[in-house]
Amino acid sequence: MIVLRPALDDMAESRRYFAAMHNDPIIDKAIRKVPDFPKPGILFYDLTSLLAAPAAFAYTVDRMEEIYANEPLDAVAAIEARGFLLAAPYALRRQIPLILLRKKGKLPGDVISREFTLEYGTDRIEVHREDVPSGGRILVVDDLIATGGTVEAACELIEEAGATVAGVFAVVALPFLDFNTKLRDRKITYLQEYNTE
Ligand code: AMP
Repeated sequence: MIVLRPALDDMAESRRYFAAMHNDPIIDKAIRKVPDFPKPGILFYDLTSLLAAPAAFAYTVDRMEEIYANEPLDAVAAIEARGFLLAAPYALRRQIPLILLRKKGKLPGDVISREFTLEYGTDRIEVHREDVPSGGRILVVDDLIATGGTVEAACELIEEAGATVAGVFAVVALPFLDFNTKLRDRKITYLQEYNTE
């Protein structure tokens, strides 16, 4: 079989090629890789270095704008904590509400919550019930999808609040951890994938 590779001197063409491969050189370069954090054997993909690089940060929000330009959205739901930092500038640009999905006990108002399983133990995320527009189409945003447990809990929370999940956006995803099984029916978009941890 002959695989035709597009001529990479054409910017739009190369953007499409790398996007299809889930390989974005700008994002990859901006992400700090920290071995053995938070424990031996884990390679941590750290987005703080991307946030500290204004060109790469702006590029990330530009990509979100581009990807969802034709998607009707009523709000953006951000997962604590790094999801906040990506969703906030996007919500402002798009001029739609920003909804915070927080760890348990942080939100002062009337909340609904969802427990989910972590590698060791469980955690809980919460949302202010009144912040979720009933029947609205919501984009769920986090920095990274590993096993998909956090994002799935976030999506279920949005649905329990009476809205629809229009899509899930993350900068990085780790497909070898099999999040595709857990998030089977979700419309997931990410810019960069890695196949080792
Ligand atoms: P999960 O629920 O397994 O998809 O875990 C996702 C959450 O854990 C995200 O909010 C990430 O910030 C964090 N996370 C998990 N694994 C990594 C990793 N290798 N590098 C950086 N963050 C990670």
